[in-house]
Amino acid sequence: MPTSFKALAELCEKLEATRKRLLMIDMVADFLKNLDSQEVEPAVSMILGRAFPKWSQQTLEVSWTTLSEIIKRITGIEWKVFSEAFGETGDVGSAIKTVFERSKVRRQATLFERTLTVAEVRRSLEAIAETTGFGSREKKDRLIEALLSLASPLEAKYLIKIFVGEMRTGFHEGLMEQAVADAFQIPLDAVQKSSMTLGDIGEVAVMAKTEGEEGLSKIRFKIFRPVGLMLAQMADRIAEVLDEHEGKTAFEYKLDGARVQIHKLGDEVKIFSRRLTDVTESLPEIVETARKNIVAKEAILEGEVIAVDDRGYPIPFQHLMRRFRRVHAIEGAAERIPTRLYLFDILYLNGDSLVPLPYAQRRQILKENVGKISLTKQLVTDKLEDAEQFLKEAIDAGHEGLMAKKLDSPYTPGIRGKRWLKIKPVLEPLDLVIVTAEYGYGRRHEWLSDYYLAARDAETGDFLPVGKTFKGLTDAEIIEMTKRLKELATKEEHRRVFVIPTIVVEVTYNEVQKSPKYKCGMALRFARINRIRDDKTAEEADTIQRVKEIYEKQFLKKGRYKTE
Ligand code: AMP
Repeated sequence: MPTSFKALAELCEKLEATRKRLLMIDMVADFLKNLDSQEVEPAVSMILGRAFPKWSQQTLEVSWTTLSEIIKRITGIEWKVFSEAFGETGDVGSAIKTVFERSKVRRQATLFERTLTVAEVRRSLEAIAETTGFGSREKKDRLIEALLSLASPLEAKYLIKIFVGEMRTGFHEGLMEQAVADAFQIPLDAVQKSSMTLGDIGEVAVMAKTEGEEGLSKIRFKIFRPVGLMLAQMADRIAEVLDEHEGKTAFEYKLDGARVQIHKLGDEVKIFSRRLTDVTESLPEIVETARKNIVAKEAILEGEVIAVDDRGYPIPFQHLMRRFRRVHAIEGAAERIPTRLYLFDILYLNGDSLVPLPYAQRRQILKENVGKISLTKQLVTDKLEDAEQFLKEAIDAGHEGLMAKKLDSPYTPGIRGKRWLKIKPVLEPLDLVIVTAEYGYGRRHEWLSDYYLAARDAETGDFLPVGKTFKGLTDAEIIEMTKRLKELATKEEHRRVFVIPTIVVEVTYNEVQKSPKYKCGMALRFARINRIRDDKTAEEADTIQRVKEIYEKQFLKKGRYKTE
């Protein structure tokens, strides 16, 4: 019997209602056991809030505006019902459920409808994703409308969550691995390993069901299927890094570019971004470089592509990102920002997975297989002073800092651990003023938890926003802050409150970027509130002129980049 989407929605509803992990795992394992093989991957993906497996290049490309227009049409409901419901829960799916429940039009229609199955929902999502190009908008609309028209309020709640890509049931991939292991009686580490290799737990679940543990043991990397990336943790000081890596480690320049995973099979090369999206078309020269230099028939390598100016100095990351966004730009029309590739790892070579090998050995194999392509500059040392000097050199050459890689460490896809540590010199924090605040989502929906941060214009006295953050404050601080901000409120618009600029906060950030988002033309990247500076008045806050100085200082370091 095909599994109904209703059953999946009910499962998710139960997951949402509990925080007991073991119970959640049991419920999902039970559910998985009863599925047909072809339902397993779609169900696993959907429970995790994904329309498709993680490695899939298919995307729904449906905006919230489109979705809400369709929902208005099929429910005939006044949108304030949604706004109020959303205001209460902060959850889009739950608010849509309320909208569906209150719709009179829908109540009549559903009397005659048949039930949706998991397989039908997947087919429908595929059809939506495949609809692209000229005239696709109307067709997409019709497909979504057809799907939502068949949904009960509860089903609509979870369909919308899949569209938006956020389940919020608290059931994440790690728990899913455990549920798959339990459902098909396979050791957890075998499931985890396969999931890392294939980059998606859904397909692993299918193999586990159909071929058992033995099937999983045969799983290998697949060329042109992106692998989850190994990620680094932050370290504050070099001494700490040496300690963590037992005295000696490999430092590499940390380049401020875009991470690329390069897959090669014969003459064909594909490049995937950090988010595992296929960006081959935006980097033709990198494809060429890889094709020419990598002799191996099959390989998966990793590196960083940086943008450079005409003298070869690195220029800011955001310029490179423009290239990625132009995947669909017409050849020749796009401004060509020169790039350079530096490789730093190799995961697979001619049929063999290299991930279990120690870093030092992989690096050696990498060196032997990439022809003239540069590797990231490296220093293996146990000496603090040499490492400090190396960090200084990296910064002086316009790079971000260093990465430290434990010499004997395997490559662990998808894992952020201490085997890779990143060290960046911290930019001096700025004291900024909160000028506007927004209500948060979910648990924070009643709190003003998202803050616009402004610097003072020393010439006019105006406060100009340079960033926004919801990071850094504890719950207790946010509650207190909400109270204070409400007392300072001048105007409230939707979920946004404008306040008299009074409260000063110390903010750390990663970089000052050029940005059209704010009037001042700059924005802080990765802003985070360090502490509340009640000892400072708004007049004592940092000025926009100071932010500009920091912005320009970055470029002194980053070579000859000219402000546009
Ligand atoms: P972060 O994005 O701050 O977590 O830092 C990790 C990122 O640094 C990686 O995802 C890479 O894009 C980038 N990176 C730059 N240089 C290196 C390097 N030598 N080794 C590994 N990652 C690097």
